[in-house]
Formats: sequence, C-alpha cells, structure tokens
Amino acid sequence: MAIATNLGFPRIGAKRELKWLLEKYWKGSIGAEDLRTGAEQVRQTNWKTQVEAGIEQLPVGDFSLYDHVLDWALRVGAVPAAYQTSQLVSELDRYFAMARGTQKGADLPALEMTKWFNTNYHYIVPEWSADQVFELNADALLAEIAAAQAIAPDVRPVVLGPVSLLLLGKLKGSSASPLVLLDKLLLVYQQLLTKLNEAGVKWVQWDEPILALDLNEEAQAALKHSLETLSPARGQVKLVLTSYFESLRENLPLAFSLDVDAVHLDLVYGPEQLSAALQHVRPEQSLSLGLVDGRNVWKTDLAKALETAQEAVAAIGKERLLIGGSCSLLHSPVDLAGETEIDAEVKSWLAFARQKLDEIAILTRAINEGPESVAKQLQENAAAIEARRTSRRTHNPEVRNRHQSITPESLCRQSDYQTRKSQQQQHLNLPLLPTTTIGSFPQTTEVRQARAAFRKGDLPADDYQQFLQTETQKCIARQESLGIDVLVHGEFERNDMVEYFGEQLEGFVVSKNGWVQSYGSRCVKPPIIFGDVYRPQAMTVEMTKYAQSLTSKPVKGMLTGPVTILFWSFIRDDQPRRDTCEQIALAIRDEASDLEAAGIGVIQIDEPALREGLPLRDADQAAYLRWAVDAFRLASSGVANQTQIHTHMCYCEFNEILPSIAALDADVISIETSRSQMELLDGFGSFQYPNEIGPGVYDIHSPRVPATSEMVGLLKKAVDVIPPQRLWVNPDCGLKTRGWVEVEAALQAMVEAAREVRTLLA
Ligand code: GLN
Ligand code: ZN
Repeated sequence: MAIATNLGFPRIGAKRELKWLLEKYWKGSIGAEDLRTGAEQVRQTNWKTQVEAGIEQLPVGDFSLYDHVLDWALRVGAVPAAYQTSQLVSELDRYFAMARGTQKGADLPALEMTKWFNTNYHYIVPEWSADQVFELNADALLAEIAAAQAIAPDVRPVVLGPVSLLLLGKLKGSSASPLVLLDKLLLVYQQLLTKLNEAGVKWVQWDEPILALDLNEEAQAALKHSLETLSPARGQVKLVLTSYFESLRENLPLAFSLDVDAVHLDLVYGPEQLSAALQHVRPEQSLSLGLVDGRNVWKTDLAKALETAQEAVAAIGKERLLIGGSCSLLHSPVDLAGETEIDAEVKSWLAFARQKLDEIAILTRAINEGPESVAKQLQENAAAIEARRTSRRTHNPEVRNRHQSITPESLCRQSDYQTRKSQQQQHLNLPLLPTTTIGSFPQTTEVRQARAAFRKGDLPADDYQQFLQTETQKCIARQESLGIDVLVHGEFERNDMVEYFGEQLEGFVVSKNGWVQSYGSRCVKPPIIFGDVYRPQAMTVEMTKYAQSLTSKPVKGMLTGPVTILFWSFIRDDQPRRDTCEQIALAIRDEASDLEAAGIGVIQIDEPALREGLPLRDADQAAYLRWAVDAFRLASSGVANQTQIHTHMCYCEFNEILPSIAALDADVISIETSRSQMELLDGFGSFQYPNEIGPGVYDIHSPRVPATSEMVGLLKKAVDVIPPQRLWVNPDCGLKTRGWVEVEAALQAMVEAAREVRTLLA
C-alpha cells in the first residue's frame, strides 16, 4: 500500500502561538518552563492535526524554537567558542544568543542568517572551526520522538543530513571546504542512527537539500561516502532521501545510487524528473512522490496528481510509494479555515498546510482503494480547479490584450542616460552629492495604532486621512529643516511595501492569517496573486501630490517594483511567473505616469527582491535575470526624459549581478552597503557602473547614530571609485524601524557629511 507522508508542518501555530511565546520569553514576561510547555503544546497540536488528517508517517524533529539548521548545529555539539562562555547560564540562553545575539550578561552578536534556498525562510548559518569537535546532543530529539510515538505508531524523524549541514555552514578562518570535517561528523551521525534504531524508528527522513543545487565532485563523493559509512550503524532504520524546490536533474542518478531506501521527488517544481526516476529507482527502493505544493497556497489539481501517481504505480507498484508534499509545509500558511478576509470565490481555490494534509490523504486513498473510494472529494476538487481555470478574474481579456501588445520600445526610456541626466539636472537643479532617504520614516506606535483603529472601523476614514496628512506634513518639515535635497512623504500609510500595493491592485487578495515564518519569531503575510493583475485606480498619487504641495524641494514618489511584488507574494501557478510579473509591471508603469502627470519629477521603484528570485541552478539564471530586468524596465520607462527614476536594493550580495543592475537603466540606484561598504564599492568601481549611485553611508539596522566624520570617510572612499557627479548620499535602507530621535541625529550628521565633502571637492 502507498503511504501518506509529510515532510514537515509549520511551527508557528495557527494563531502564531510560537511567536507570542518567544517574544514574551525574550522580554522576560514568561520563563523557560512556560516557553517549553507552550512549545510542547504547539507540537502536540501539530501532531494530532496530522494524525487526524491521515498522515501515516508522522514527521518529528521538524519543529524548532527558532531554526532547524541551528538545532542541528547544536545537536552535533557545534557551539562556536564565543558562545561557550559561562556568562550564558542556560542552554536556552546559549541557543538564543547564537540565533539573535545577546547583551544580557555576555555581549555577543547573532550568528549570520541567510535565505533557505530560494524561499523566504532564513536559517542561521552554522560556524565550523578547523579543529571542530563534534558531540551528539540528541536527548531532546529522542524525548520528542518518544512523545510522538505515544500519538502515532510510525514516527519519522526529520534529520538534516551531514553533507548539507556542513555545506550550509561556514568554516571559519580557512578557505577549505567544510567537508574536511565530514569524517568527524559522521561519527556523531552514526551514534544518532544507532539511537534511532534502538528507539524503534522505522523510517528517517534524510534531508540532503543540497541535491537541488549544482554539485561539484567533492560534494557528490561526500554524499556517497556519508551514506556508505553510516550504513552499518542504522540497523533496521530505513532512509528516505529528501531534497526539494527543484528537479534533481543530473544529480538524479547519484541520488538513486546512494545507500538509501527511498528517494523523494519534488514533482511540483520538477515534474519532468519522474520518468528518469522510474528508470533509476532500484528494485529494493521506494519512491516518495511530492505531489502537493508545500510552498504555495493553491488547491492541488488532484486528478492531475493522481495521473502522475498512476504512472509510478504502473511502473513500480503502489507498495513502493510514499505520497506527500513537494517540500515541508513550513513554507505554507497554517490553516485556511479561520480565514475571513478572502472572498468566497478565491477561497474555494486555496489550500493552506492543514488542507494540504487532506489532499495527501485523499491522493493516498485514491491510489490504494481506487478513485471511487474518494469520488466525492475528487469531484469537489475538480469543480474548484475548473472554476479557477475559467474564472474571468483569472483570465481578464483586457489585461491579456494589453500584455500581448508590449513591444521592445516599451522597455526603453526615450533617450540614453547622458541625455536624460542633463534634462533632469535642468529640471531638478540639485547640488553635487545630493542627499535623500530611501522612503519610509519612523512607523511610530501612534502611526501603527491609527492604522489599526482605522482598519477596525474605530477611526473614520476622514480622520485617518487627516492623521496621515499631518504626519506627512511634519515629516516634510523635518526633512526641510535638516536640509535634505530630495524629500519623501514618509510612507505612513503603508503597512508593508508589498501588501500596500496588493490591497489596491486587482488580481490580489490579502489574507487575515496567512502567516509564514520568515525567521525566528518573525512571520510574513504575503498577499496572494490569484488572477490577472491591473490597477483599478491610482494608488499613491494623492498622498505624493499632497506632500509635494508642501515644499518647493522635489518629493520622490515611492513605488514597489514588479519583481519584488511578485516574489514577496504567493504567486499563481497557472501561468509563467514572467507573465504575472509583466502584468504587475504594467500597473506600476501606469502609476509612474500618473505621478509624473501630477508633477512628481523623481520616482523611486524599489526592487530589493531582484536578487532573491535568482534560480538555484546556474543554467537558469541568465534567463531569469533577463525577464526580471525587462519587467523593471517595463515599469520604469514610460516616463519622459526629465523624470528621474530611482531604484533601491538591499538584503543581498549584488556584485555577481552588477551587469543586470546596470541593465535596469535606472537613473539612480541606492543600495545597502552597511555590512560591507568597501566590497560593494570595489564591485561598482571595477564594473564601471554607468549611472548614478547612492551607496548607503550608514546602517539603519542599528540604532547607533554614526558620526559625521565616519560618513565623510566613506564618501571620500566612494569618490575614488564613483565620479562625484554620479554620487548620491543616503542611508542604506528605509527608516521605518527606527525612532525619530536617532533618525534626526543621523540624518543631520549625514547632511553635514555631504556638505563637507562638497567643499572638499569644490
Ligand atoms: N521604500 C522602502 C522603505 O523605505 C524600501 C524598503 C526596502 O528596501 N526594503 O521602507
Ligand atoms: Zn532597503
């Protein structure tokens, strides 16, 4: 019989219980015991939910208080020297010190954090040392397994495999690959497998997600070596080798050749790999079919998934099949049931994690007992899929006609940068090294409260509007008195730079509770793009125009770019991303034109997520960059020469995509440099970036107020690689998370620094 499985369930809880627990613990309003019992409750609920839904192999060890990669670093005893200090009294404090830094007792920064493959989840990067000592520390995991075994007979521990674990980390102070530590680490995994065998575990989920990447020979050999070495220790324990987010491609033969009892396939993001897998699967191996999308919100087309499964049944029989999600459901919102904000039609097309479990169970039953056994469920599903496919909201002829009519000319400004620059200069008349900010100003408690009251209906729309105008007015006045050259309205009306547009564009819905963990206690609520996107009316013009009416300095209009809106949303799976992105670009293009017509001479189109969409495999990257750049150009090139287009980027390594950044052809780019100012400038210097740049002169992620002299120093370095005529002065990101006191002090120092360097250059 095929078995219903699941690779992992969201940890945050349906009401973000884990978030609230963590934040209370960090504040000191609850103790460690409360945190532990609270977390235990979330785990128990998750297990029961899965068992009740019909999941037969219950995942355990997928839960984490902060991050599963950090958990594994600790389970193998890898605590960097700095965190071994006796000033950290409890193991829990040590754990959170590594996750998020601490100033209690010990003063320690957090370990580095980075994106988990191509998702919006961030993991803590383990730090290995050349003389690393490993030691098994699995008591808590074994206790969890025992607790789960009381609920379900068949629990399946989720183990992050040794090769991925090492490669996801960094070997400090050495240029060698972390794989030099593999043999030492394998001793610990041997002990672990022995214990799992003793605990009566039948299957282990052996996560080696690096199989979704381009692997060099060393990594391939390491996978082979690790599984060969571990084989004797595992006794009766069977391993299902899992990777996700991509097709295995050329790693497929390797995966099946390894000493594992089953191989998982992400058939949502790599459907084409099934036929190769059916050829490579060995007679003693099973196949795990990832048929339900673990990282998006759509109902699975069960008929289609069943067809795929039947292909596997025909080739190897149902006894050798595991049925599950494409990846862990960690990346899905928890439960659609409590969702009140989404209209009934769109809601009928959706499935969150809880609903995905049902889909897995239905599919498994249909395979084992025949489709008749779940005829009603299949029928309902088919009706929903058909309704979505034919809805006018997903297929709007006007939007599609316009999309069809995009021409190469729509991607180009009227003239080249040089011509534009002189026309803009005539119009804007800015000083050398103009100063500006990235858009948002502090979102104070007052601002958040007013918005919350307005949303609840406690504050009338007119009063809220009045409140926003007053905030904007104060913000403009403050910027004027600071002497900033290009002003912004402050973004007080925006909750989030993507949701704000998602709420106003057609083709989007915004959920009430569709939260997904981004890192630790931080969750995001991406809007859902369900249909053809268009702009029913102007979105930002009124507020920007109002701000401009208050000053004779230019006010910069603030838009979020199409690529960022795309990647920070749940995206439709029924057309290429590129098409959706172009539809969004057309809406932003219209907004830019409306801003221009309203007298706004500078427009910023933020694209912090440009780098984020980069595919995992090298071979796919160029094509992505081409369409992403084109989408930005489509959004930004409908304006006249004299309108100055800015863009802004942050959160990433830019140097490897500099040619694409240049190809955006924005007149000005402001860029985050806080972590490594010089590295970034080196990149821009040697690449000869052709247009204007504002490398952030201070880090807004810290409350620290930088001294004028520091910023003068940075600007002097910047003018060595960027001609002063093309250099801007700005902070490195939006200021919404900061307080007014530090913002005013920092901006004053920044304006002063610009003045000093101007004098030096004169
Ligand atoms: N304009 C946005 C802001 O200032 C940009 C945010 C971002 O780069 N992430 O908040
Ligand atoms: Zn930013």
